[in-house]
Formats: sequence, C-alpha cells, structure tokens
Amino acid sequence: MDETILHASRIPAMKPEKARSSNRLEALTRIIREVDSAPDLDTALSVIVRRTREVMAADVCTVYFTDHEQRHHVFAATDGLSADLVGQVKAGFGRGLIGQVADSSRPVNLAEVPEELDQEFLTQSGTDRYHGFLGVPVIHKRRVQGVLLVRQRKARRFDDADEAFLTTLAAQLGSAIAYARTNGEVCTLCRTSTDQQRRFEGLSGAPGIGIGKGIVLFAADLQAVPDRVPEDPHTEEQRFRQAVASVRTEIARITDDLEGTLSSADRALFDAYVLMLDSPEIMDSVVQRIHLGNWAPGALRQTIETHAQRFDLMDDLYLRERAMDVRELGTRILLSMQGTSARLEDYPPDSILIGRRISAIDLGLVPPGRLCGVISAEGSSLSHAAIVARALGLPAVVGTEDLPISALDGQEIVVDGNNGHIYLRPDPALRQAFAALIEEERELGESLSSLHDLPAQTPDGVEVSLYTNTGLAADLSLAAASDSAGIGLFRSELPFMLYDRFPSEQEQITLYRQVLEAVAPRPVNLRTLDAGGDKPLSYLHVAETNPALGSRGIRLTLDHPEIFLTQLRAALRADIGFGNLRLLLPMISDVDDLEQALVLLNRAEQQLVEEGFAITRPKVGIMIEVPAAIYQIEQLARHVDFLSVGTNDLAQYLLATDRNNPQVSRRLDHCHPALLHALQQIAHASKGAEIPVTVCGEMANDPGCALLLLGMGFDGLSISASAIPRLKWAIRNVSTTQMKALAEQALQLDRPVLVHHLLEQVLQDARLEQLQDPPQY
Ligand code: PEP
Ligand code: MG
Repeated sequence: MDETILHASRIPAMKPEKARSSNRLEALTRIIREVDSAPDLDTALSVIVRRTREVMAADVCTVYFTDHEQRHHVFAATDGLSADLVGQVKAGFGRGLIGQVADSSRPVNLAEVPEELDQEFLTQSGTDRYHGFLGVPVIHKRRVQGVLLVRQRKARRFDDADEAFLTTLAAQLGSAIAYARTNGEVCTLCRTSTDQQRRFEGLSGAPGIGIGKGIVLFAADLQAVPDRVPEDPHTEEQRFRQAVASVRTEIARITDDLEGTLSSADRALFDAYVLMLDSPEIMDSVVQRIHLGNWAPGALRQTIETHAQRFDLMDDLYLRERAMDVRELGTRILLSMQGTSARLEDYPPDSILIGRRISAIDLGLVPPGRLCGVISAEGSSLSHAAIVARALGLPAVVGTEDLPISALDGQEIVVDGNNGHIYLRPDPALRQAFAALIEEERELGESLSSLHDLPAQTPDGVEVSLYTNTGLAADLSLAAASDSAGIGLFRSELPFMLYDRFPSEQEQITLYRQVLEAVAPRPVNLRTLDAGGDKPLSYLHVAETNPALGSRGIRLTLDHPEIFLTQLRAALRADIGFGNLRLLLPMISDVDDLEQALVLLNRAEQQLVEEGFAITRPKVGIMIEVPAAIYQIEQLARHVDFLSVGTNDLAQYLLATDRNNPQVSRRLDHCHPALLHALQQIAHASKGAEIPVTVCGEMANDPGCALLLLGMGFDGLSISASAIPRLKWAIRNVSTTQMKALAEQALQLDRPVLVHHLLEQVLQDARLEQLQDPPQY
C-alpha cells in the first residue's frame, strides 16, 4: 500500500472550522511575508487587497489612508472596484461608514449597510450599492493611519474569523503605512510633495538646536545604506572588487581553519558563499549599478535586496532561508568596504550623525568639532549615546523609529533636541527661526561664561558642589576645562568598549592617569566597570534574556575577580603621585555584594604593597541605583565613605520602564512622584547615617530638577560639563529656603505633570525662563 495513503488514513480528519482557520493562518502568514518583502507601499497594498479579497471571498477589498491635515480618508487601493477611484474618493472625518470605523477605533461589521450611511461613497464613486460590509481601523502607535475594508454585493454578515483576519492584517499594515508616510510615499495621496519640508517626531535626547547636513552611519546595517552619487565610478568599482576579493580570502581561511571540524554538509554553506561571490548575477549587477550612478555600498544594497527578495517569496522553507545567506554575504562585503576609523573628509563641519542605533562609542569616534547634532532612530533620552551627546553639548533626537534613515543622507536637517523634533529640508522661514534660536542660545552661553570661576553659591550663601560626568576622551577635555569641583562620575566601561579585548593593567594605568592628571587636585570618582545590560562588551558575551536585570555592573565583576582585580590595581597604581582617586561601585544591591567588592579591593592593595608600590587607600563610594539599596542605606553606609545616586537606573527599575525603549520612554519621567519620594528617602537616610550623598543621574542636568534635589538635601550634583554654566546660574538665583519649599511642595503632588508645572513656575519666579525649553515649532 502507498505509504502516504497509509499515513493519511491514520490521521483523524480535521473539523471543517479547524481546517478553515488553519488555512486562514497559512494565508495570513503568506500575505504578511509578501507584504514584508514588498519593495514599496504600492506593491504591499496591492498584495493586501488582492489576497484579502481572495481569502475572504469578498467582492471588494479597499484601503483608505487617513490624511490628518485635510481631515479626510483617501481611497488608496482596491481590488474589485475601478482603480480610477484611487485618490478621487474621500471620506470626511466623522462621516459615513469609513468615518465610523476610524472614529470608533474598532471593527464595523454590517450585514446590510443602511443606504444613507454610504451615500458619500456612492455619490463620489458612482458604483452600485454593496450590502455587506466589514471595515477595521489601521492604527499605529495609537494613531489612525487608515481603514481596511471588504464589501459584498449581497447582504452578508462576516463572521468572527473574518474580523480577526482583517484586524491582524490591519495591524500589519499600520506600521507599513506609518513608515511609508515618513518616507514620503503616502504624500501623493495626501497632497504634500516629497521635496517639501518634512517633520519627524522623536524624543529629546540632548538639548539644543543644530542645523547641518545628514551623514548616515550604517556600520553593518546594509538596509540603512543610502544612495550616493560616486565621485569616480571606476574607483568605486575597484573598491567593490577589492572587498569581494577580501571576503573570498576570509571565507577560504575560515574553511581551512575548520577543516576536519566541519561536516561536508556544513562545508556546503561556505561553498555556497563562494559560488555567490562568483555569480555574475550578483557581481555584474553591482558593477552595472555603480556605472549607472550609485556608489559601491548603495549599488551593493540594491543588488542584494533584489536578490534576497526573490528567495523571501519562495514557499519552500529551505529556499526562503537562503535569503538570509544572501544578506549575510552582502553585509560581509559591506563591512570589508568600510575602513575601521572615521575619516575627517567623511564629516564636513556641521555634520549631523544619523543611524539606527548610534552608540556612545560611535559618537566618540567622530573627529572632534565636526558634529552639530545627532539622530538615533532607536534608544531614549537615557541611552548612553544621548548621555554622551549631552556631555559633548550636542543636540540629539532619539527614538524616531519610523525614520527613513537612508533618505536623510546628504540632506539639510534641523535637529531640535529641546523638543525631540527633526526637520528635513527646512523651508527658509523655519530655518531662519531656528537659526535665531541658535543665536539666542549662543548669546546666553556667552553671558553665562562670565560665571566661570564664580562659586555655585545660593543668594543665602550656601556653596553647592557641582561635579562633571565623563567617560570618553572628547568629554574629558570639557570636564577638565570646566570649573567643576571634580569628576563625580567617570564611566570606566566606555573606554573598555573601545577595545576588542580587555585592556591590560598597563593600558588602564595610562588611561586613568590621563583622567586623574587632567583634573588634579580635584577628585575623580572612577566608577568600576559597569558593563553588561545596555553596555555590552563585544568581547564578553553574556547570553541573557533580560540583561538589565542580569549580570551587569558589580555582579559581573564579582563573577570575574580577575577582571575586577586588574582594574582595581590599575586605578590604585595610576593614582600614585596624584592622590585624587575615589572608587565608585555600580549596581550594589546588598551588603554582601559590597563586602565582597571590598575584600577584592583589600587584596589588590595588599598585592601592590607587597610588590613595593607606594599606594594610598582611596575613598570608596557606592551607586544607589537599585531600589533595594534605598532600604539599606544605613547598613551600606557603614562600609563606605560616600554615596552617589544613579537616577537613570533607579528610575528604570523603580518605574519598571526600560531606559532604552522609546515605546515606553514617556513613562520614564524624572518628576514621577514615586521617584521623588524614593529620592527624598535616600537624602534623609544619608543624613541619618552621616554620609555625603550626591546625584549623578541625568535628572540633575535639568535646572528645575536640580533645584528640587538640592531642596531635598543632596550635598552635590554631578552633571554634563556643558550643563554647568546654566545650573550655576540657577543656583546663584534661588535661595536654599526656596529650594526646600520647592521640595516640600513637589512631594505633595500626585502626578508628574503637576511637578513639571511647579518647576516651570519656580524658574519663572526666579526670572530664569531662559532655562526652560524654547517654544515649539
Ligand atoms: C545612572 O544609572 O543614573 C548612572 C549615572 O549610571 P549609568 O547611566 O551609566 O547607568
Ligand atoms: Mg547606572
């Protein structure tokens, strides 16, 4: 008997509704796959309307786009009605069936549509009546982007499975429309031209305004590579051919190294790479595109994407997986085309650095003085790129996930870091308005420079200690030049991230001596390695599902005493002759962690003394940034000399809000009452334990929040060097009595927005309005 028949007879027949839902699921997966690999929105839409009509056996499937400016929904694509209606039929906000779907934000399912409800559509389209209707809203990030609907000529009640199917597809369509909208693809229907000024909304990463030319940093992100006109196509072709040759050598080396370890099946993968490298289909096409006017990385992206998409659409899973191989090969060639260090000529003055995920290190690697702004599509205001941008005084916008990154390359852009907005190709009036704001900022900066060397002293004579936060060479020079009381936070993990292995004891000594010397005799709080979480080291892979709650900071270094001891030895040795080192331990959550760290410090000291080094024991402090530490201040304080509050992590853990996730970053509000009460408790407990406590989180950069923290009783603040003059101005104009009253009032309030209003009021009363954010455009 035929094997398949035998097996089939053993399998119980599926119930009809189950079979139908499994077919639906298959159809859905297939449509989503096709939509994902569609090269543009038009293709994606035609896939959706055609397939949906087919699967649901409907007479018509249509998509409308919402034009928020014109306050109507525009007929954008159809299967079943005339294509002439596209762009012609419009449904006003709040009117008719389409308006009802969009307004109610839920499906509208009618077996029989009342004629008057569809009158607007019937009149504009000139079609006959359709009786059955199911429409679902297309929503992205809480905003209606359009409506997806099916119609039936006869009366038909679409069932629950139909509703679920259409809703799932609409969710998929939402992000595609939002992305296309920012890309300019939706513009023709929504009547704005792609050459016009465009605005994108993100989050404020670092304050200030920059006007300059976009430079896209794509690193290993092939899809983010922009198109650029090559200076000389022949040089580009050569560059490409060299890259291919070096990838071929690399693959040959890997295959040789793995000889004997790889099975013949595994070897086939590498052989396939080599075959692709030799295939004229890929190679000739890249060269052709170069000579048609694209630079090598752009031509590579176009070719690889076209090639990979063919595999994407294949039914066979094995063949579909080949798309990944094609993209991987493209990435290898791309990486091989890039030099390792940033070249000065790649960054003309007034460049705006743009990338999907700009890191603190990317910023540190750009030649100094070339940037006037930063845009990172991912991340939030507490991401380390934003923190470093702030330290360097560079305006930054982060968390603009729908940004068409590659389209920004070479374009004129305004980065409004105060409000988190980006303007592409600003028109002359807007450009002028922003240029005026930059000028105002410059004048304020100049007038505040007169405060240099004056103490940060309140009108009632209390001097406040202001320290700076640093970590990279670029912001160290700013910190050293500032008149701060020292470095309140040196993030030692940032230099570690510049290496491709752990830096040796000697390398670390050189680095720390530079820092200690730059600010001596002022103190430096050298925070021991706070790697892990959102600051991974490329050479120390820790596989974790939830790195923020995993092995980071002191937890990681306690697990690796060899790394910790090397760092402690290097720090102690670097301090010889300066004596301004203080050690700061990150992510302490209990007394055991602290005691173990101190045991290792004792061991490092003992070793060095035995080796004959004339070291002195530095003061030791801990970061208060894990909520558990708040409740053990008294016990922890017995072992150390000072405390430093990391509000970035404290807020993240207290409010259960990932500091790097732009989806939730609006919840990470430093004026949240829970955070304010926690801070007040820390200040009180530290007073009780008679231990000095400062704040080194980003919150202290905000003049209003800084006054509030001082009012709570914190002994000092550590902030970006660029924020020192503004904060000094605020402190010199608000008395300690006013600060205390402000803290008392703020702690009475039950919502962040009320605290923000209160802080604004205080700045206004002290005639410090200029320290508030400038107006929005
Ligand atoms: C903090 O958590 O507030 C802090 C200052 O440290 P980091 O931002 O480096 O985690
Ligand atoms: Mg921290």
